[in-house]
Amino acid sequence: MPIHLNYQGTTCKNCGTEFIAHKENHPCPNCEEVADEFCDFVMSTVATMKDHKQLYGNYFPESWFSGSIADLVQGIIFELFDNFEGQRPKNFDDFISGQLAEVEWEEGQAHLAGQTKDIALMVFEIYRKDVDFRGDNLKARPLNPKLNNLNPEPPQFDNF
Ligand SMILES: [Zn+2]
Repeated sequence: MPIHLNYQGTTCKNCGTEFIAHKENHPCPNCEEVADEFCDFVMSTVATMKDHKQLYGNYFPESWFSGSIADLVQGIIFELFDNFEGQRPKNFDDFISGQLAEVEWEEGQAHLAGQTKDIALMVFEIYRKDVDFRGDNLKARPLNPKLNNLNPEPPQFDNF
């Protein structure tokens, strides 16, 4: 089972825009009203990327349901880093701009492109310094015991 954040995104109290409050006192990208909540989205995304890599061999899990803008942005970042490792482009900044240009955002979500790029760059700062991400280190490591609980035995059905 892929791992979803317990965070759906932040809805601006002033204008209703949905965005990711990934920094403290994050201003709404539409009206600048400061959010009163905060999600450590970058660190949570890095943790989930590592767990998914161990579970599935990729950052993007076998299936991913986007039930919120937080899921949407994370799903794009997982795919982006899988593509990055596949292609190894020299310039990460240009690479993500190119990848994000291909995303078709729903109406009222265009501001998420800038947010996703901002978050991806912050993830990349950690990624390039963290030896866990090098090569197959994550796949080779023993599975974190907490992840075992995510793969329950399939239910048994009686035959009638
Ligand atoms: Zn707003």
